[in-house]
Order: sequence, then C-alpha cells, then structure tokens
Amino acid sequence: MADFRFDTRDVAFVLFEQMRLGDLCALDAFKEQDVETYQAMFEAAHDLAKDQLWPINAESDRIGAQYEGGQVTVPECQRTFYRTFAENGFVAMSNSPEWGGMGLPNLLGMACNEIFQAACMSFALTPMLTRGAAHIIESHGADWMKQLYLEKMYTGEWAGTMCLTEPQAGSDLAAVKTKAKRDGDSFLVEGTKIFISSGDHDFTKQIVHPVLARIEGAPAGIKGISLLLVPKYLPGEDGSLGAFNDVSCGGIEHKMGIKASPTCTLNFGENGACRGWLIGQENLGIVYMFQMMNEARVEVGLQGLAVAGEAYMQALAYSQERVQGLSLKGAPREPGAKAQTIICHPDVRRMLMAMKAQVEGMRALAYTTARAVDLARHHPDPAVRQRQDRLGQLLTPVCKAYNTDMGFRVTEDAIQVHGGYGYCQDYPVEQLCRDIKIAAIYEGTNGIQAMDLVGRKLTLEGGALFRDYLEDLETLIARHGGHPVLGPWTRKLAEARDLLVSSTGRVIRALQEGDQHYAFLVSTPYLRLFGDVACAALLLEQAALAAERLGAGDLAAWKAGAEGEASLRFYYDKACATQFFIHNHLPRARAYAETVLSEDRSALEAAFPDLD
Ligand SMILES: Cc1cc2nc3c(=O)[nH]c(=O)nc-3n(C[C@H](O)[C@H](O)[C@H](O)COP(=O)(O)OP(=O)(O)OC[C@H]3O[C@@H](n4cnc5c(N)ncnc54)[C@H](O)[C@@H]3O)c2cc1C
Repeated sequence: MADFRFDTRDVAFVLFEQMRLGDLCALDAFKEQDVETYQAMFEAAHDLAKDQLWPINAESDRIGAQYEGGQVTVPECQRTFYRTFAENGFVAMSNSPEWGGMGLPNLLGMACNEIFQAACMSFALTPMLTRGAAHIIESHGADWMKQLYLEKMYTGEWAGTMCLTEPQAGSDLAAVKTKAKRDGDSFLVEGTKIFISSGDHDFTKQIVHPVLARIEGAPAGIKGISLLLVPKYLPGEDGSLGAFNDVSCGGIEHKMGIKASPTCTLNFGENGACRGWLIGQENLGIVYMFQMMNEARVEVGLQGLAVAGEAYMQALAYSQERVQGLSLKGAPREPGAKAQTIICHPDVRRMLMAMKAQVEGMRALAYTTARAVDLARHHPDPAVRQRQDRLGQLLTPVCKAYNTDMGFRVTEDAIQVHGGYGYCQDYPVEQLCRDIKIAAIYEGTNGIQAMDLVGRKLTLEGGALFRDYLEDLETLIARHGGHPVLGPWTRKLAEARDLLVSSTGRVIRALQEGDQHYAFLVSTPYLRLFGDVACAALLLEQAALAAERLGAGDLAAWKAGAEGEASLRFYYDKACATQFFIHNHLPRARAYAETVLSEDRSALEAAFPDLD
C-alpha cells in the first residue's frame, strides 16, 4: 500500500502565512484559543488520517457499502474508525460549543477536513452531511429540536443527511412531489427520495433527515416547498430511541467511485406512519436548504482540492521511484547506460508542475472562501463583515465548480505520470480519479453553479459582489506591478483581469437584454475564466510572501539561495509554481474570454439529429 502523502507543508503555509489563521484569535468568538491549539488540532487530524483512515481507503473501495434484506451496512473498517473519529470531536470542529461542537474557526475546520477528504472521501461524506443537517436545525429549528438533536448530531452519536432529490426532481427542485399532511403538531410524510448519501447505514442507529416536501395545499413550484425534520427512529424527550418512523431504504446505487458511501433510495411513509416536524416556516424550505447547500458547496470544492492534492503527491512520489529512460543531461544512450527516475524527463516535470500549480491555487481559493465565512460571522466591523460575506457568496460557486472540474483533471494527470500502473489498482490514483468525479455532479451540478455565478451572484446588490472583488484585485496588481520578479507576472494577471472585466460586462449585458440563452450558454467558460484569474491572483500573493523570505535578486539568485538553505526550498518552489501558473494555466483565460465575447450561438442553433 502506498503511503499517505498529504502536503502538510503547503497547507501550513496557506493557513498560517497567507490566511493568517492566528489573527482570528483576536476575534471575540475565538479569544480563548491560540495558534498552538490550532497547530495541535491540525497535527492530530493528520496523524489520525495517516495512521487509521488512509490505510482503509482502498479496502473501503473494494468492499463497498452493502444492501441486504432492507439493511445497509458500511465496511467494518469504516465503522470502527467512525467511533474514534467522533470521539475525537472531528464531526463538528467549527460548530457551536453550546451544542457540542468545538467552536474552532471554519478555516481550521476546512484544513482538517481537507486531510480527511484526501484520506478517504467515501468516509468523510457522512460527517460532512451530519454537521450540515445539524447546522440547519441550529439556524432555523425550534428550541425543542435544538435541545433534542444538536448535541447528539455534533458529537456524531446520531448522523444526518440531506434529502432533496427525487426521480423527477434533480437540478429542478421545483418538481419535488414528496407530500406532508398536517396531523396535530406534526406532519405525516409520504414520498420517495433517491440518491441520498448516507441515507441509511450502520455508523449510527439514529439518522436524521431534513426532507424537502410539499405541505398539502401549498402553492405549486419552488415557493410551495417546506423543510421537515424526519428521524429514522422517534426519539423520546430524553433522547432515547423509540419506534421506527417508517423510513425505509429501497436499495443502494452501484457507482463509479465513493463505493463505501451508501447512496440510497429512501421511502418515506410506505405504511402511512412516517412523522416529520416543520423546520422554520412553511414554504421556506428552499431558502433554508440553500444555506446548507452553500456550506456544503464549499466543502465539495474542498473535496476536489483534497483528492487532487493527494493524487499530485502520489504522482510526485512515483516519479521519484520509477526508473525509466535516460536523462537528457546524461550520457548518450549506450548499451548498459544506467536508466534514471522519470522525474528527470521534461514532460513528466511539466505534468508534475501543472498539478502542483493547479492544486496550490485551488487550495488558496478554498481557504479564502472558508476564511470569508469566519470574518463575515465574527469580525467586529460591520463593513468588513459585509465585504467578506459578499466575497464568500461570490466565490462559493467558483470554489465548488472550478475545484471539482480541475480536481478531476489533476487526478487524470496523476494517472498519466504513473503510466500503465496508474490505470491499475496497485496504485491509489485510479481510485482517486473515480472517487472525485461525483463532486462535479452533486450539490448542484457544475453547470448549475455557473448559472448561479452569472445569473445571481454577479447581479446581487447591483453588482457589488463583483465590484468589491475587482477592487481587491486592483490593489494586489498595484502593489506588485513594480517588483523585479513579480512585476512581469503581475502584468499578465492585469491582462487577464481586463478579460474578466470585459467578459463580466458581456454576460451582464446579455442578462439585462433578456438574452438568458446567451448568458447561460457561456456561463461555464465564464466561471472557468473567473477561477483561473482568482487562482493566479492568490498564487501571486503567495509568491509575494515567498519573495519576502527569499530576499532581493532574481529567480536565479533565489534558486542559489534555496540550494544553500533547505528551509528556502519551499519558498523557491512557490515562486516557480506561480510562474508556471501564469505562463501555462492563465493563458486559458484568454481562450475562455474569447468564447464569452464570441457571440457564437452555434450550440443553440444546431439541429442535432432526433434519436428514437
Ligand atoms: C453519488 C451521489 C450522491 C448524491 N447525494 C445526494 C444527497 O445526499 N442528497 C440529495 O438530495 N441528492 C444527492 N444526489 C443527487 C444529485 O444532487 C443530483 O444527481 C444532481 O443534483 C443532478 O440531478 P440529476 O441527476 O437529476 O441530473 P439532471 O438534473 O437531470 O441533470 C442532467 C444534466 O442536465 C443539466 N441541467 C439540468 N437542468 C439544467 C438547467 N436548468 N440548465 C442547465 N443545465 C441543466 C445538468 O447540469 C446535468 O449536466 C447524489 C447523487 C449521486 C450520484
């Protein structure tokens, strides 16, 4: 089995140097905490993932979740690990201590979750859904619900889900048909949900389902959907589990990846005896569920980063082991000449650097979005709170869609570095590639994310979200434009910024003119353009931090310095990754912008053959 290769050095750099996690201790919400605690927590998460979770990742994939006689089981290795994971408080690191969470910054929770997602995505999904479901109850539920459910969920004694999808209601939730009929102070729920992750399992006995349903008499469409709390077992006031609540699993899916995560068909009220309780107000279910989905979308973007990051590190390790071919620098090919490890080959180094630069940009993007949540919730200055809230809202669809699309591609490159072995189960990269594909589909497909960015986020508050973002970009460009090394990269970023501005103008004009067809035709290239610019900007910020360590001089001087001082190697590579991103990934921005500005409607106009 290959070792766990999680890139703790880069995460520590982003957390403590770029995002300045320690500064969050100045906020009231975290004033009892300190950087040492944060470091200890991060190390504990890493040790647990490395020693106990990564070693069961391949076994989980091989065994998968099982469905027999109406019962769902997860691999025993996962069940055993779940207890340790929950006992150590990892289910709800950033949730309210009042209700059993640890109350740590969201940013730190994200970093720890990156480790768990990298080590075993099929496992990490269940606690992710549990804290999301509990947070929705904390935000919108009645007091008695909070008293009864929250602590048990945040501590992992009970698990949670997210029940939206039905056979006819996937991306279009307005088509939800599940019914709820008032019966005293609760509701009788009836309907079928499909594709429900962790909808049934044996990690915990109790499973708590937030369910989108229509209360009888509700208006048609999205404005007639309510959110109900439906437990698998009816709890007594003391939290003891009572009667079965008529929520049964009709089967699980057989999937391409995350095989140990049970994706369930759930039948509510087959016997007319499924009871649910309204969360918040009637007909506002979608509004509440969107809160959960927005949090989950950032975490799904984190999955893209986490799995891609591990794939890159696995490829890097393999490239230093696999002996094949001669170095160009070496002696001419002669019989008996010693072959060398493949990291000596320029094309392999290109793939490695493409992965490294992409992953490091994605990490900065995900962590920036996570930190925005902390600052928007807890900063004392209302102007900062507002600005960070806008930033978080704007970046959420970008983080979700860009990181998962690019994450999948990084895993593909990682297979390529392994050659034929990468296609086989002997190495972890083929599983990583299969596992991550779903992240581009669930939690709102990436196409829907692009429409959210263009159709909603760009127009919210009269365009203030994008205006604020652009101001920050201008400040960054102004700060580094004159630097001897960073200056030329900054000018490339400024060109890409101009393309982003003109593309934004074009999609907004399309919306203003009622030309939604064009706006949504180009929304995916627009989102990718946004993601590339955002990553380039964040990497430039990282390179500026690296430059402070590396001192005066050009790249050659930085290289010489790094050769003489091991601790500078990381910073020198950081500058290399930024340069690579600017010259190899950022040029995509021009192609995307050209598409957005092209006025090409061929996909709308094409006839396409009718297939029987
Ligand atoms: C492994 C797995 C786990 C899942 N977990 C959960 C879960 O826990 N809870 C839950 O509720 N659901 C879950 N889902 C369901 C998932 O969220 C849906 O599959 C997803 O939202 C897409 O819905 P769909 O499959 O019906 O595809 P469709 O909605 O039919 O989409 C098909 C294609 O059409 C596109 N499309 C659809 N409508 C539009 C539009 N208006 N404009 C542009 N493009 C459009 C989509 O982007 C996509 O490319 C899970 C699915 C899987 C496979």
